[in-house]
Amino acid sequence: MMSRLLLHAAQNKKLERLVSGQPMTRGLVDRFVAGVTLDDAITVAQRMGREGLDVSLDLLGEQVEDLADATAATDQYIDTVQAIARHSPGATVSVKLSQLGILADRQVCAKNLNQLLEAAAAVDVDVELDMEHSSAGRPTLEAFHDVLPRYPDTRMAIQAALRTTPEDLAAFVDIKPRLRLVKGAYDEPLSRALRDRKEVTAQYRYLAGRILAHCPVPAFGTHDDECIEHVRRAAEACGVGKEDFEFQMLYGVRRDLQRQLVRDGYRVRVYVPFGSQWYPYLMRRMAERPANLLFFLRSVVGG
Ligand SMILES: Cc1cc2nc3c(=O)[nH]c(=O)nc-3n(C[C@H](O)[C@H](O)[C@H](O)COP(=O)(O)OP(=O)(O)OC[C@H]3O[C@@H](n4cnc5c(N)ncnc54)[C@H](O)[C@@H]3O)c2cc1C
Repeated sequence: MMSRLLLHAAQNKKLERLVSGQPMTRGLVDRFVAGVTLDDAITVAQRMGREGLDVSLDLLGEQVEDLADATAATDQYIDTVQAIARHSPGATVSVKLSQLGILADRQVCAKNLNQLLEAAAAVDVDVELDMEHSSAGRPTLEAFHDVLPRYPDTRMAIQAALRTTPEDLAAFVDIKPRLRLVKGAYDEPLSRALRDRKEVTAQYRYLAGRILAHCPVPAFGTHDDECIEHVRRAAEACGVGKEDFEFQMLYGVRRDLQRQLVRDGYRVRVYVPFGSQWYPYLMRRMAERPANLLFFLRSVVGG
């Protein structure tokens, strides 16, 4: 119930203006967001690199309505891939297509995405597409299909909670794209998505096996011990080596586990968000673990 309320609040623009108007406190920055600037993100990426962790940088922002904002986000992403190439090779970027304009104008979004992919390929940086609310899901899937022939190393997230995902994955088996499997962070109607945690975990485990068997360098975005253990065992059973897949986790979540997996010889990539538009991202993190709400309120009210 609390989780659904928080997910609802994540989409509330009035609340966003109210909460975002508060100064972004240091505590909040340190826990879930690398900071406001690209320099902040690169500093975190380099620090993680020294600890054996890879990163994916996410410029916060989503659901742009004004296409000028989509162009500005594309330009910032291009700056980001160029900074990665100079200062943090091996890092990727994670992009939400709603930020590149997919809900406003699909053609403009396609142009922005191609521009970013071209710039990223020129400096040998990989791009990952986040999967958003199902209103952007189908267009994101189609955009991914369109770019794969030219940019086959692009990776897209798929959500275990969505009822259509097994079918989407079956359609991908011949193409063998790079995928990131996550549980799904958005408030979806029951007709579209599973809500029961046990059912979502069971679906995650099933899809993890399929992805390991059919897709190259898969990524498993989860902090759930049960899912992680399942992936470890399934990879071993189908002969996928520790270097041939990666675990991905969010900046600020289960930091000890991130480092333990590295010590165990696994590849771990940390998803590192940066920028000033942190509100919807943080609300989704609150929804995943309502105990975070207390921490959040303390940082907003207490400064
Ligand atoms: C790298 C990465 C990329 C992602 N990309 C997407 C995407 O593109 N689209 C999308 O819909 N979702 C995305 N997600 C979010 C994902 O869908 C889940 O909402 C999120 O990962 C929580 O699910 P879980 O598998 O960690 O399991 P859970 O059962 O939710 O969590 C397992 C344990 O992890 C810890 N934990 C989990 N979340 C938090 C948190 N916020 N704060 C503190 N502790 C926490 C708790 O200890 C919890 O018991 C991504 C997640 C990761 C890690």
